[in-house]
Amino acid sequence: MGTLDYLKELEGRILDAASYKRLQRNYEMQEENIKQLKDRIESLESQNSDHRAKNDEISRENIKLKEENRILKEQISLDIQKPQLKDGHYYFSEDGPYCTACWDKGKKKVRLSEMTEAFRDFGTYKCPVCHAKYK
Ligand SMILES: [Zn+2]
Repeated sequence: MGTLDYLKELEGRILDAASYKRLQRNYEMQEENIKQLKDRIESLESQNSDHRAKNDEISRENIKLKEENRILKEQISLDIQKPQLKDGHYYFSEDGPYCTACWDKGKKKVRLSEMTEAFRDFGTYKCPVCHAKYK
């Protein structure tokens, strides 16, 4: 092998070594990037799980508040519907008569039905639910 050939081969080997080093550096950088991405994914997964837990908590709170709201609305509508007692029956703004027992016990608006002529001795009205008789 001549000196020139030897030098050319040496130059080739030096270039190979340089590109090997470059590849090695790239590989190390990519490994570092992958490691950072994995850490980032882990952190996002953990955040996501925290958000899910928070979301579940808010959902439960929302269900509870909706139920409270429903009960309060019901309460308000019952408060608005305050009956007036007239001749032993309840009237709701002139509409009636209604059974006092059913309203007092369960806030049920039960319209009294008139007794037939044959049963008038027992009363004038009867509650179709609790069967209370009224004059
Ligand atoms: Zn009744």
